Amino acid sequence: MEKTMLAAVLHDFDDLRLDHVPLPQVRSHDDVIVRIKSCGFCATDYKAIKGIRRNVTFPAILGHEPSGIVAEVGPGVRHFQPGDHVIVQPSGYCGYCPHCRVGNTHYCQHAFTTGGDGPEDVWPGAFAEYMLTKECCLFHKPAGVSFHAAAITEPLSGAWKGLIQYSQMQPGDDVVIIGVGGIGLLCMLVAKAAGAGRLIAVDSSEYALDNARALGATGTVNPARQDAKEAVYALIPDGPDLVVEAAGPIAAVKLMTDLRRRGTKWNVFGITTHETFELDGGLTHFLEGRMDASFGTTPLAMAKAIRLMETGLVDTEKIISHRIPLEKIHEAVEIMASPERNKIVVNVLDAT
Ligand SMILES: [Zn+2]
Ligand SMILES: [Zn+2]
Repeated sequence: MEKTMLAAVLHDFDDLRLDHVPLPQVRSHDDVIVRIKSCGFCATDYKAIKGIRRNVTFPAILGHEPSGIVAEVGPGVRHFQPGDHVIVQPSGYCGYCPHCRVGNTHYCQHAFTTGGDGPEDVWPGAFAEYMLTKECCLFHKPAGVSFHAAAITEPLSGAWKGLIQYSQMQPGDDVVIIGVGGIGLLCMLVAKAAGAGRLIAVDSSEYALDNARALGATGTVNPARQDAKEAVYALIPDGPDLVVEAAGPIAAVKLMTDLRRRGTKWNVFGITTHETFELDGGLTHFLEGRMDASFGTTPLAMAKAIRLMETGLVDTEKIISHRIPLEKIHEAVEIMASPERNKIVVNVLDAT
């Protein structure tokens, strides 16, 4: 009899079912099967379930922020063996195309993703007991980092890549984070760990702002209750060195540009929809407006995120608000819609 596993299978928009599906099989030399312990629930997953993003091929197994234990390896796998505790990068890459050769593996011309969004080649993800990936996507999980905390590696790596690698945040910089839900809080933790000066959280949810204060924001601004620009400048009269848009709505991107003073750096981090905003060319020139954007992750960013957790500079456990067993994934979908949450992790097989 064919062996099966439990998986949350998306059959259509708003049609997520717990099914028993065939176990993934090793097919080529560098394949790895990972027994999933925990997987972060990302807004991307929620958007796929609700049909907010339409680029989904059914049936689909979502979940692209996993940690787990290596169950089986292909004959060419050299650096991992069954029993190893691992963190899985969702984006696979070839290593040889012009982008991979310079380290931009997230631009890879032959990319695949396990459960994520971006590449056209989408493999089943980690809202399941097991998943198939490749050796290039694996990282050893430090012993002192729990499987749940490790499931936050991919979004944490994105925050490191955006703030540190691309926007080159410096110790002492005054930083504004617009949107302090899951990913924005991670940006805040990275900014804190990197020695931010004043660190201002902007969000229309008081729940999110309470969390931001508890995690080290030196000031908070609620644009639903006050003029956001005035409030930010009341806290930072000289204006921010860096503004990170980690919210998503176009209004947040517009606020990001409004908060500038001369030399302010922007990072367009949260928006994924195709909406426009205007920049005055001459003004941007004379202000020396500097804009970065950041999506996805790279092996470098994953390694840095793991180091931040291993050394205790960032404790991702602090942003986990819900741990939901795979069998109750529909509860996780409901909680995703609520403003009273931070990061949700879906655990499989009693992760600790
Ligand atoms: Zn994600
Ligand atoms: Zn490539």
